[in-house]
Amino acid sequence: MGILEVKNVGKRFGGLQALGDVNLSVAENTVHAIIGPNGAGKSTLLNVLVGKLIPDSGSVMFDGQSVLGRKPHEINQMGISRVFQTPEIFGDLTVMENVMIPCFARRDGSFRMHAFETVSQERDIIDEAEHILNDVNMLDKREMHAASLSRGDKRRLEMAMCLVQKPRLLLLDEPTAGMARADTNNTIELLKHIRDTRDITMAIIEHDMHVVFSLAERITVLAQGTPLVEDTPENIKGHPKVKEAYLGE
Ligand code: ADP
Ligand code: MG
Repeated sequence: MGILEVKNVGKRFGGLQALGDVNLSVAENTVHAIIGPNGAGKSTLLNVLVGKLIPDSGSVMFDGQSVLGRKPHEINQMGISRVFQTPEIFGDLTVMENVMIPCFARRDGSFRMHAFETVSQERDIIDEAEHILNDVNMLDKREMHAASLSRGDKRRLEMAMCLVQKPRLLLLDEPTAGMARADTNNTIELLKHIRDTRDITMAIIEHDMHVVFSLAERITVLAQGTPLVEDTPENIKGHPKVKEAYLGE
């Protein structure tokens, strides 16, 4: 049994079958990549996992509990966190403040700005935020306004905002999209560091095969809303169906 078990999930948008019959099992404490051509249904699947979309059929179990029918914030509290394709940060706040917000959200079960004002001096929350910022190598930028960060640093900040919630399953939708090679390599190193220092499972959607092969232990190839093959990176590389459907060979 994986920590995440997706069974026979289907999702239709009008006349378009975005997800056909998706089965996916993600083992605990592994990095599992989901790859596939544009329009394959990768983001749709992720949206189902976080409760943003309700599938037409099938089941999604996280750690033995059904995810379906729960609101996104409830799923988040179950231990599933998502890093967005475009960083979702508060530009007017400092780096440190951005990281502290989810700390409060985790404690109170909701994001309340007044909590931020009344308990912002709490030492343990500050300690925790600093610890995470150190992990993502941004402690020296703690007082900077988030809006003024480079694209790569915005990503790191968003990662910190996810990690501070102590997720058991981290979902990443193209975390290196639009990045220059140097930032991509930094992101790979950051994700390796997270993988190696925490009890965390990651499901990563990624176009960049360098990123996929650097991180993933298992790979699922999605094509036209249906898993084509699931295997180790070594086997995926040479798989004729994958070459045909995905690599265009
Ligand atoms: P991927 O992330 O693999 O590129 P998506 O999951 O974004 O693919 O999209 C799968 C298919 O579903 C695409 O054909 C896309 O146009 C369609 N689609 C995605 N979201 C919606 C939506 N909200 N309404 C209608 N069609 C959608
Ligand atoms: Mg997508």
